[in-house]
Amino acid sequence: MIVGGGIAAYKALEVSRRLQDHGVRVTGVMTKAAQQFITPLSLSALTGEKTYTDLFSLTDEAEMGHIRLARDADLVLVVPATANLMARAAQGLADDLATTLLLATTAPVIMVPAMNPAMWQHPATKSNLATLRHRTVQMVGPVAGDTACGEEGDGRMSDPADIVAATMARLMSATPPDLDTEPDTHLDTHLDTHLDREDTRGANTSGQSLRGQHAIVTSGPTCEPIDAVRYIANRSSGRQGHAIAAALAKAGAHVTLVSGPVTIADPPGVKVVHIETAAQMLAACEAALPADILVCAAAVADWRVESTVIGKLKKQAGHTAPPDLRLVENPDILATISAHQARPQLVIGFAAETDDLVRHATEKLHRKGCDWIVANHVDTDDAANNVFGSTVNKALFITQEGCEDWPVMAKTDLAEKLVTKIIKHSGASLVAV
Ligand code: C5P
Repeated sequence: MIVGGGIAAYKALEVSRRLQDHGVRVTGVMTKAAQQFITPLSLSALTGEKTYTDLFSLTDEAEMGHIRLARDADLVLVVPATANLMARAAQGLADDLATTLLLATTAPVIMVPAMNPAMWQHPATKSNLATLRHRTVQMVGPVAGDTACGEEGDGRMSDPADIVAATMARLMSATPPDLDTEPDTHLDTHLDTHLDREDTRGANTSGQSLRGQHAIVTSGPTCEPIDAVRYIANRSSGRQGHAIAAALAKAGAHVTLVSGPVTIADPPGVKVVHIETAAQMLAACEAALPADILVCAAAVADWRVESTVIGKLKKQAGHTAPPDLRLVENPDILATISAHQARPQLVIGFAAETDDLVRHATEKLHRKGCDWIVANHVDTDDAANNVFGSTVNKALFITQEGCEDWPVMAKTDLAEKLVTKIIKHSGASLVAV
């Protein structure tokens, strides 16, 4: 993890902790400017590893060497990536340890930009960004909001949870070599990570077990406009659907991810179609057919406003009654594609229920005509912290044959477990053919 010199550097400490929670070993490298914000000692204390700062350190060179430091990593995460660090990396400069490492590494690189909004908008930064993207550097953020300098706009660093989710997705994913990907997502694969693979993930899903298969995954919320500025949406982060798309790609499938508006990064090696409404999501899924596998993990809004108001609905002076919003039902994507003449061979739905999980989810399996349901319990007492915003999940796996109770696990692990089931199923159906 390279830490650049910005006020957001302190958040790198949290990122390092959260990555370790996922079993990742983190080695810190800090620029000179970063040391104005946090100390190498605090980073070392949290990572439990030596933090490197100096290109010309005789001791470090004797012990490790900057080339080995660059080569030993499975992934290089730059957090925060300042405008200056991005510029130096784009130029291919090697004038300190951080930039030398970026030049020498063959591992995937993720940069997490954080800077003043005007600096982010500057044509020089835009051009550096384009260069880095073209060289397959993955960007996470920045996001809109208040920045430390008191200005508002794009430039704020992504939340540590989103940085960790994107990093884990990248560490866990492999890009099949023949995929039709954007240049910024076509990367070497580095699967030999320091992750502990002996837990709930089940069989190893790396390799090409689903090669030749096309999977469509829906993810995130949908946003249904009310007027020019307001919409109906929900708390879905897209983490579960995106992790499933990444795991399917890692298993060799060609993946189309149809995603509602989310703040997390597009998974690598996946074709992503960005949509806003349920109608657009259905149209994108239908356009992506034929497919072998459909996973509907999106939290689709059940209703939309019958007629969207052009412009902004205004409060009328002296008129207290709120406007009447007539809602109409949205199309059900899962049910529609389950009944489609080009129905994928395996259709998987998700169910978020507040009570009687098994009964409601099993009913849903039959009503929607899908093959499997992954059912989550939604904690109504803690709406802000339930499965929708979280990086972990606890689910029941329900098929026509029965029900499995899966323990609490990271959403990335649940994705791997589900893909293991899909691989087994696709192997079995090949034998049946
Ligand atoms: O009906 P409910 O929203 O509980 O069903 C959840 C499942 O159905 C999820 O797999 C979700 O992605 C899918 N769904 C859909 N289109 C809708 C509503 C839900 O695909 N309009």
